[in-house]
Amino acid sequence: MLLFDAHLDLSMNALEWNRDLTRPLADMRRREYGKTDKVDRGRGVVTLPEMRRGQMGLCIATQIGRYVAEGNPLPGWHSPEIAWAQTQGQLAWYRAMEDAGQMKQIVDRDGLDAMVALWSDNPPPDAPIGYILSLEGADSIVNLSYLEKAYESGLRAIGPAHYGPGRYSPGTGSEGGLTPLGSDLVREMDRLGMVLDATHLTDEAFWESLEIFQGPVWASHNNCRALVPHQRQFSDDQLKELIRRDAVIGGAFDAWMMVPNWIRGKTTPQETGCRIETIIDHIDHICQLAGNARHCGIGSDLDGGYGTEQTAMDLDSIADLQRLDGLLRPRGYSEADVTAIMHGNWIRRLNEIWS
Ligand SMILES: [Zn+2]
Repeated sequence: MLLFDAHLDLSMNALEWNRDLTRPLADMRRREYGKTDKVDRGRGVVTLPEMRRGQMGLCIATQIGRYVAEGNPLPGWHSPEIAWAQTQGQLAWYRAMEDAGQMKQIVDRDGLDAMVALWSDNPPPDAPIGYILSLEGADSIVNLSYLEKAYESGLRAIGPAHYGPGRYSPGTGSEGGLTPLGSDLVREMDRLGMVLDATHLTDEAFWESLEIFQGPVWASHNNCRALVPHQRQFSDDQLKELIRRDAVIGGAFDAWMMVPNWIRGKTTPQETGCRIETIIDHIDHICQLAGNARHCGIGSDLDGGYGTEQTAMDLDSIADLQRLDGLLRPRGYSEADVTAIMHGNWIRRLNEIWS
């Protein structure tokens, strides 16, 4: 079945991890053996061939570039302009993938229709993977005049926050509302018809931005606080508000967001029994709040700085997400619901947003 993944950091993996995502997974891992500069070296699970093997023909793919002021211990760039340049390098990689026939950017309804048609009816083995460009953390938008430039290069969604303090909004592990720049940013996103990705916003910034922003909202990669108590996950009130705004929420496969009490770098998937099926607890929680299965999808984040050491123990490749098909049915989901969760909800929502 066609799979839609609403959150992959493909270009970050290409540029910062130096991963050639066109290569087979085993080749990519082999080149990393012995390297220790990133915790997930040799344990990545995402390549373009693996996406094709898993029938993942469509995704939302990010640009990402954090600005860090002096004293901020998080990894990042020392000026917004450097962060912008990083995202432009990432864009250049996506363009090169398009030139090579590996990927195809989707910016409107016609493009989406074409890629859905390609992937729904026996796609060729080398079919390009359709991607919608999103920005994770808005620090790299030097000033609002850059937003229009970004839109012109295909950017269709922005999550203003990521981890820690941000120029537009504080994010995961931080507190406080939107900065003054952040309020202007979401207004300008509204004007341009961009989607607000609520993922990573602090609780304060979440409520504040949803008040200001009247356009379409989604949460590309977010699980439930009721199951994993941490500010990174959404509370039931937040989930209900997203449902009210007709958002789709992508289930994330980062193990610390799937099961409670995970300690990064210490806990192992085997210790917690975290499995692919665990995500269905989160999906189910949201479906129960909504009273239907229209608001859940996949937003795996499976290349977001971790690999097999920090995801479901029965997941070795992103292609394994295809098993959700068989796991959802025994949990009481109808064929129509399963289709909606695997790809239908994201496609429906994008069609509505772009019509
Ligand atoms: Zn993220």
